[in-house]
Amino acid sequence: MGLLDGKKALIFGVANDHSIAWGIAKALHEQGAWVGFSSIEMLLEKRVRPLAESLGSTFVEPCDVQEDADIERVFARWQKEQGTIDILVHALAFARREDLDGRFVDTSRAGFMLALDVSAYSMVALARAAAPLMPNGGSMMTLSYYGAEKVVANYNVMGVAKSALESSVRYLAADLGPQNIRVNAISAGPIRTLAASGIAGFKTMYGKFKDIAPMRQSITIEDVGGTAVYLASDLSRNVTGETVYVDGGFNVLGVPTPDE
Ligand code: NAD
Repeated sequence: MGLLDGKKALIFGVANDHSIAWGIAKALHEQGAWVGFSSIEMLLEKRVRPLAESLGSTFVEPCDVQEDADIERVFARWQKEQGTIDILVHALAFARREDLDGRFVDTSRAGFMLALDVSAYSMVALARAAAPLMPNGGSMMTLSYYGAEKVVANYNVMGVAKSALESSVRYLAADLGPQNIRVNAISAGPIRTLAASGIAGFKTMYGKFKDIAPMRQSITIEDVGGTAVYLASDLSRNVTGETVYVDGGFNVLGVPTPDE
């Protein structure tokens, strides 16, 4: 008996087996959910399809979330093949490398718009497309980071995008709650992924994290997967609009100090 037996999940954002989206996919699948995948086209055949097949999934569809037509196509295929969705996972973000280094004040208009479009607006667009396929309600979730709330060196425009994302989660939760659809964010501590490698100084910050966070350990994609199962399942009924931290308690610290 799995917590998600009979449920169907559509997951955006698997790039490889280090992706947070992959940790979530594995965890949802372990609890009985049927999982389908959407990722950008160039990753699909080499990276995503073999991972999907390892979970017995045949649903692998390309999507650039900046393209409305791509989003429409993914959900049209899903509706044709699967009918309804119970769980939507949005685990993707993008900013130009030069905007994840140096001073935030130097962010260009184009860089700002790109980061906000891919990393925040896409959640709104995916939620709007998924909601009609959740006639009996459902659970939507996205991935955020502490840089949404506090200044984190080099996170820059991505911090602003994550603030917009967390705020969007609250507005989406208010809109979709009457349809029994819950919307939440998971704010994860640093994990070594492809996206994280684009942030200047990430490696150093990642290295120091486990000396500072109350739980004294690194965060894994399996840790995030566990919380995703909770948010996807009926265990979290009536939890919506929240940002749930999976960060070993880092966010409760006022003045983080490493052990001597
Ligand atoms: P990742 O590189 O494995 O995943 C990022 C995904 O975003 C990739 O699959 C990429 O293809 C996708 N993407 C980028 N632009 C896209 C577009 N235009 N259309 C469709 N997909 C696009 O890295 P990750 O760390 O697993 O990132 C997943 C999410 O988790 C992101 O929102 C990230 O900000 C968030 N997050 C990461 C960390 C961390 O330390 N790694 C911490 C907190 C939150």
